[in-house]
Amino acid sequence: MKHEALTRWTTEDAAELYGIRNWGSGYFDVSPRGTVIMKPRNSTSNASIDLYEVVREIQKQDFSLPVLIRFSDIISAQIHTLNESFGKAIRESNYRNSYQGVYPIKVNQKRQVVRDIVQSGAEYHHGLEAGSKAELIAAIANQIDPEAFIICNGYKDREFVDLALYSLKMGVKTIIVIEMPGEVGLVLERSKALGITPMLGIRVKLSSRAGGHWDKSGGDRSKFGLDASQITDMLDMLRNDGALSSLRMLHYHIGSQVPDIRRIRLALQEACRFYVELVAEGAPMGVLNVGGGLAVDYDGSSTNFASSRNYSVAEYAVDVVEIITNVLNEAEVPHPVIVSESGRCITAHHSVLVFDILQARRFEPHNLPDTMPEKNNELIENLMSAKNALTPRNFQETYHDAVYYRDEIRSMFTHGHVSLRERALAERTFWHIIRQIQNIIQHHDYVPDELQGLGPAIADVYYGNFSLFQSVPDSWAIDQLFPVMPIHRLDEMPSRQAVLADITCDSDGIIDNFIDLHDVNHVLPLHEMNGEEYLLGIFLVGSYQETLGDMHNLLGKINVVHLRLKDSGEVDYVLNLPGDSVSDVLADVEYDVKKIRRRIDKIADAAVAEKRISETERTEIITAYFEGLQGYTYFEQ
Ligand SMILES: *Cc1c(COP(=O)(O)O)cnc(C)c1O
Repeated sequence: MKHEALTRWTTEDAAELYGIRNWGSGYFDVSPRGTVIMKPRNSTSNASIDLYEVVREIQKQDFSLPVLIRFSDIISAQIHTLNESFGKAIRESNYRNSYQGVYPIKVNQKRQVVRDIVQSGAEYHHGLEAGSKAELIAAIANQIDPEAFIICNGYKDREFVDLALYSLKMGVKTIIVIEMPGEVGLVLERSKALGITPMLGIRVKLSSRAGGHWDKSGGDRSKFGLDASQITDMLDMLRNDGALSSLRMLHYHIGSQVPDIRRIRLALQEACRFYVELVAEGAPMGVLNVGGGLAVDYDGSSTNFASSRNYSVAEYAVDVVEIITNVLNEAEVPHPVIVSESGRCITAHHSVLVFDILQARRFEPHNLPDTMPEKNNELIENLMSAKNALTPRNFQETYHDAVYYRDEIRSMFTHGHVSLRERALAERTFWHIIRQIQNIIQHHDYVPDELQGLGPAIADVYYGNFSLFQSVPDSWAIDQLFPVMPIHRLDEMPSRQAVLADITCDSDGIIDNFIDLHDVNHVLPLHEMNGEEYLLGIFLVGSYQETLGDMHNLLGKINVVHLRLKDSGEVDYVLNLPGDSVSDVLADVEYDVKKIRRRIDKIADAAVAEKRISETERTEIITAYFEGLQGYTYFEQ
């Protein structure tokens, strides 16, 4: 990221700096006026929405930041891309069956999101996947298409099994996936008791692993799935029970966000062999479910890095169809319906978190005092000499010297041999040196490992009005990268280097890993604060982030706005969902808000009785507390 000030800064430079066209999949861009725009129907229309304008409009409607903005059209565009990609791959390879995906509800269970998916997936009979009783009921509430699948994974008790069987009986194609050996008996028993012949799937445990963040989801120690000997036991059990004809689907899932297409191919090859063997055992089968794993290119690098993927959706579809065709043709087994449980790829792009920067703490360049004390401690003199001797050639050596003298001075301070003023002078000098070294290495292509941390050490800290734990939990939990950038002022060159802190008091509530085409960047270029509102967006947060988030520091759910682009090009505000109030989050942690009010009343009464406050002050104070209970949990302007 070397931008020389010689040429004039343009919005094109901003687009390049933040990589918006690399990770944006055509949905996001920078407008000539320097704002982020969304093209939510990128494949069919160029119509765009100005994100900054939308935020202004939302604020006019009295909705405070932070806000999560969801775009319906992006969900349907992704559903179309996935289904059309498989459609094309199937046509072009003479595959003799169809693709019929399911959306795993756990990825984003929000009603409006699932509704958008079901509606735009209707023409493809795109179904749903449920991993718990609650998710199954949500699926049934959304899914009435008798052609589409509902697939039940996860731990299953008797009630879950019954609900799935009843759903099948009512005409919804509901498949119960046997994930663990114990489940076969339960399902057989319940289907006999209810007189409903089940549609069964079996989850196999592959030896292939996913790579990336979710490497452990696959392989021998994965939590779910049956290994070869458990599969043969299950087959025997089904056969003895006369229920082998219920076995219709093979399923596997090696993990989410599989960055490397080779892993996907290897796993599928192994799974196809299981499929062939199950057919040879006499099971009717007919459906091959390749699970999730279709990754999202969060950093825009198109590589097998954990936050990226080295393949496109189209390539994924072609490879899946090709491998199944090859293995099954060789074994002369009829082609099954292909199901994938792609979730992340459907919803990641559709939502963006927008928040304001509350304050920026600048890294001060630590100018040295104009006049130096006459007589300095010897170590400080050494530090000064190191500073004066620094050149572009000896910066690494100078760095070592500076760290050594600084540490010595700190230790002498601890032992009472250095004064507070001396220590302050030493630290100023130290940071002055570090800043000079940073200036030198900025222009180097190769930076020694030990010096790579200097950027963040001297970066500004920008405090954002959001909670990492509530809104981007994977950034904290698994160090996942998300694209972050300002949504306006992109016609100005950003002049600061910063890390982002949230408003929790947790020192982990910080983002200092940012996307980069080659590696990870530890600072984010941002604009100088100019007294006006400064708004940032964290993008591609539509998958997993909404419901994995928690209420750390009692910062609750944020305001949500769900948008659609009308054919006229206007923005349709489909839904405005207010986030949690202070009362909501207190109730969530078992407080009785009525009791809190009574308690505040009582404290105020006592204060009046003790003449600490007047009657008028009492009213003011009570009003402030009661309004506080109604307020947003985030910083309100
Ligand atoms: C979570 C999960 C998925 C979703 O995977 P993505 O990588 O988000 O597409 C699919 N299937 C199962 C069984 C899952 O647990």
